[in-house]
Amino acid sequence: MQVHPRILLAGEWVDGAGPESLDLNPARPSEVVARVRTAGDQEIDAAVAAARRAWPAWAAMPIQERAAILARAAAYLDASAETFGEELTREEGKTRAEGIGEVRRAAEILRFFASEGYTPNGEVYPSPRAGEQIQVVRRPVGVVGVITPWNFPIAIPAWKIAPALVYGNAVVWKPASLVPVLAYRLAEALVNAGLPAGVLSLLYAKGSAAQALVEHAGVDAVTFTGSTPVGRQLAARCGELLKPLQAELGGKNAAVVLAGADLELAADQVVLGAMRSTGQKCTATSRLIVEEAVADPFLELLRARVDRLQVGDPLEPGVDMGPAASADARQSILDQIAAAVRQGAVPVTGGEPYRDGLLGEGYFVPPTVLALPDVTPALWREEVFGPVLAVVRAESAQHALHLANDTEFGLSGAIFTNDLDAVMAAIDHFEVGVLHVNSETAGADPHVPFGGIKQSGLGPKEQGRAAREFFTHSKTVYLRP
Ligand code: NAD
Repeated sequence: MQVHPRILLAGEWVDGAGPESLDLNPARPSEVVARVRTAGDQEIDAAVAAARRAWPAWAAMPIQERAAILARAAAYLDASAETFGEELTREEGKTRAEGIGEVRRAAEILRFFASEGYTPNGEVYPSPRAGEQIQVVRRPVGVVGVITPWNFPIAIPAWKIAPALVYGNAVVWKPASLVPVLAYRLAEALVNAGLPAGVLSLLYAKGSAAQALVEHAGVDAVTFTGSTPVGRQLAARCGELLKPLQAELGGKNAAVVLAGADLELAADQVVLGAMRSTGQKCTATSRLIVEEAVADPFLELLRARVDRLQVGDPLEPGVDMGPAASADARQSILDQIAAAVRQGAVPVTGGEPYRDGLLGEGYFVPPTVLALPDVTPALWREEVFGPVLAVVRAESAQHALHLANDTEFGLSGAIFTNDLDAVMAAIDHFEVGVLHVNSETAGADPHVPFGGIKQSGLGPKEQGRAAREFFTHSKTVYLRP
């Protein structure tokens, strides 16, 4: 059944004044999942104006009341997780289990931030002056522009919008145009839970509309997740405007496998890290650095596992990997594989596009592992955002860590080893925001900080108590009775 997502503006569900956009199933692009009327420029202004009007009363509401709305929205998502998870699979292409899991994760995120209603809000410092107290209190920043990508269409928006709301901000949200249905579901959950009109607006629109949000004088801060090039543009503009920006960007995440590691476990985890969600995760494993002494047996274990992956319609039981999310994404992945092969990469497995018609009309790409001749191919440096793993051999544990850090990105990383010295070296020197020891590179639990360093992120981290850093500002109060 086709869903009809509408934009949410000043508390009303309306059709946007902009052009229609089609939401297609990437496993079967002839299936239209939804038709959406996008927002026009005037609707962006109207959404910001509504947010400004709604904000003071929202910020003045006791935090526990705001938290209760998030908790009710979480219950709604949990109760509908199977339906919404299937919708997610239809519009984005990850497997049904992953789709349902992501909806449940969004509910968990809302519940975590609801619990923030019961935690301390500030600090008290001793004063050097008699009779005075110094308090540091946290206040909401105002109206926050939220710009989100397509690859986690409900979890990423939830981990931005939930803290924004619970700490007392109003939100104008522009999701990625590929995934309007799950954006609609999150907004619907919050509206049905009692969110006052205007506190959240949802605008389907192209990237240029996101720029309008950044420019808008009525938007006090911007949180963005997406590619590094777009993040760089937004950072330049926010810098000029002196507007706070939280940016979570691309990755080129490495898994390091050292001699002496549990190779079976490492192979299982590297395949999950590289191929789950068709490799379309900012935290996907896209480089494998394996110590020479174990390289041949490890690559054999890896190849066998990748070759067992079932690729196909992600709604079907038993399918491990669905399609790329769009025709453009598919083409870009195939182009990058072909370029790497021209630059000397040798397929361990995969690499060839599926023959026409083999998997139907969907945007499928083969899970691919490529052994690089050295670190010169572009595949070593550039984010693919697909199920493609580049392999390089290291002479030693130290060399492996050096190779892992040979990237401008710094999101997540994994090391597989039983050597405590190697673990300690990784904790000290692996240049990432999220490090895994003996597990895959993915993962972002709601209660712990998440985000990258180097070109993978800018500004305070997301999730956990770290989120408070961005969605509130501190005010130092010198208090004398
Ligand atoms: P994208 O940068 O193309 O788009 C992200 C959002 O920005 C979308 O809503 C899009 O419409 C909007 N946008 C596009 N061009 C814009 C512009 N010029 N100005 C303002 N907004 C613009 O990214 P994507 O293809 O949707 O997502 C994939 C990328 O996101 C990958 O690079 C991935 O690594 C990254 N990502 C990072 C994280 C993280 O937490 N670090 C998580 C998920 C995805």
